[in-house]
Amino acid sequence: MLVEKLLLNVLIILLPIFIHSVLFDNKSVGKSPYLCGILQSLALFLSLVFSYELGGLYWDLRYVPMVVAFLYGGPIAGGMVLLTYLATRTFMGGDILLGYSSGFLAAFIPFLFMKRFWTFDAKKRVRTAVIVGFWPSLSMLIILVTNIVINNAAAEDANKILMNVSIFGVIQIFSVWLAAVLNEALLEKELMRKEILRAEKLNTLGELAASIAHEIRNPLTVVKGFLQMMHKQEKGDNFYYLSLVLTELGRAESIINDYLNFAKPQFEKLEDAELADIISEVTILLEAFAAKEGVQVNVRLEWGVFAKTDRNQLKQALVNIIKNAIEATDDGGEVIISQAAVGNESYIVVSDNGKGMDSAQIARLGTLFYTTKDKGTGLGTSVSIKIIEAMGGTISFKSERGVGTEVTIILPSFKTYSNKGQNPVELGAEMK
Ligand code: ADP
Ligand code: MG
Repeated sequence: MLVEKLLLNVLIILLPIFIHSVLFDNKSVGKSPYLCGILQSLALFLSLVFSYELGGLYWDLRYVPMVVAFLYGGPIAGGMVLLTYLATRTFMGGDILLGYSSGFLAAFIPFLFMKRFWTFDAKKRVRTAVIVGFWPSLSMLIILVTNIVINNAAAEDANKILMNVSIFGVIQIFSVWLAAVLNEALLEKELMRKEILRAEKLNTLGELAASIAHEIRNPLTVVKGFLQMMHKQEKGDNFYYLSLVLTELGRAESIINDYLNFAKPQFEKLEDAELADIISEVTILLEAFAAKEGVQVNVRLEWGVFAKTDRNQLKQALVNIIKNAIEATDDGGEVIISQAAVGNESYIVVSDNGKGMDSAQIARLGTLFYTTKDKGTGLGTSVSIKIIEAMGGTISFKSERGVGTEVTIILPSFKTYSNKGQNPVELGAEMK
C-alpha cells in the first residue's frame, strides 16, 4: 500500500526533529548547520532506503529533508543533504541522470527562497515551507505525465497513477507542514528559554541596583543635612553654589526614592482613603506648577467613594500622571481629572490636550528610564503603573499625536457615607 509506505516515510522525516529535541536541545551544537545537515541527511538516506516501488517509480519523501535543510539549516545543511542524495543515488544505481537532475531541480527552489526565508515571521515561514515543499511533487507530476504521454499508457493505468500522485502530493505537503511547524516550535522554545534567562538576569541586576540605591540614600541624607546647615550660615558667593548643589542633591534623592519605590512599592499604612479627597489634595499640590505652565486644571469628583490603600502611594501615582499631563500641555491648554464609581470600581481619568504620543511611544511607557524630556527621569510612569497594579487596579493609556492623552486608572473601591465636601469641587489654576 502506497499510503502505508508513505506514512513510514513521514516518521522518517520527523526523526531529525525528535533526535534534535531530545539530544541536542539546549546544547550549543544544536544550532550548528552541520548537525542539521547530518540529521536531515540521515532522514533522506532512510527515506531512499525505504522507498516504495510501484509502477516503475520510487515513492518516498526524499525531498522533504532537502527542503527543510535548505530553509531551516541554510546552505551548508542543504548542501550536505544534496551531496548525500547524490551519493546514495549513485550507489543505488538505476537511471542516474534522471536521479541527479531531479535532485538538483528539487534543491533549486528551496535554495532560491533560503535567504528571504528568515525575513518572514513564523507563520509566513511555515506557509513558505509548504509552498516550497509542493515544488518536488509538482516536478514529479510533470515527469509522470511526460512518462504517461511518451509511453502511451492505458487510461486505467493513467488514472491509478494520477490517484497515487495525488495521495503522494497530499502526504508530502502534510509532512513538510508538520516538519516546519515542529521546527518552529523548537525555535520558539529556544527563544523562550533565552527570554527567561534574560529576565532572571535582569531581576538579579534590579535587586542589586535597589540595594545599592538604598545604601547610597543614607550618606546622601547626611550630606544633604550638613549642606543645608552650611547653606543657612553662608552669606558669600558660595550661597548661590550651595543652593544649586542642594537642588541637584534633591533631584538625586528623588530619583533614588522613585527607583526604590519602583523596585518595591512600600504600602506602609493601609486605610480607607476617599478618592475625591486624595485627588483634590494632589490638585492643590500641583496648582502652583500648573499655574507656572499656564495650564488650566479642571476636576470632576464623586465624593463618598473609598479605596483601601496607602494614601501617600496613591498620591504619588496620581502626581506622576497629572504632572506628565501638565508638562505635555502647552500654555493655555487644559487638563481634566474626573473620578466616578461604577459598581465596585472607581474610574480616574486624566486627560490633556497636549502633544500626545504615537503608538510606539505608548508601548514604551512603563519602561524604566524612558523619557523624552531634557530633565526627565523616565521613572514617573513606571512608578505609577507599579503602584496602581500593586493596589489591584489597572492603568491604560490612550493617546494621539497632537490631540492629547487620556490615562484611565481603574481601582477597586467601595461607596460609603462621606462627611467631606458633597458637592463637586472645581479647582482651577491659571496664571495671567
Ligand atoms: P518623565 O516625565 O521624567 O519623562 P515619565 O515616566 O513620567 O518620565 O514619562 C515618560 C515619557 O512618557 C515622557 O517623557 C513623555 O514623553 C511621555 N508621556 C507621559 N505622559 C504623557 C502625556 N500625558 N502626554 C504626552 N506624553 C506623555
Ligand atoms: Mg513624569
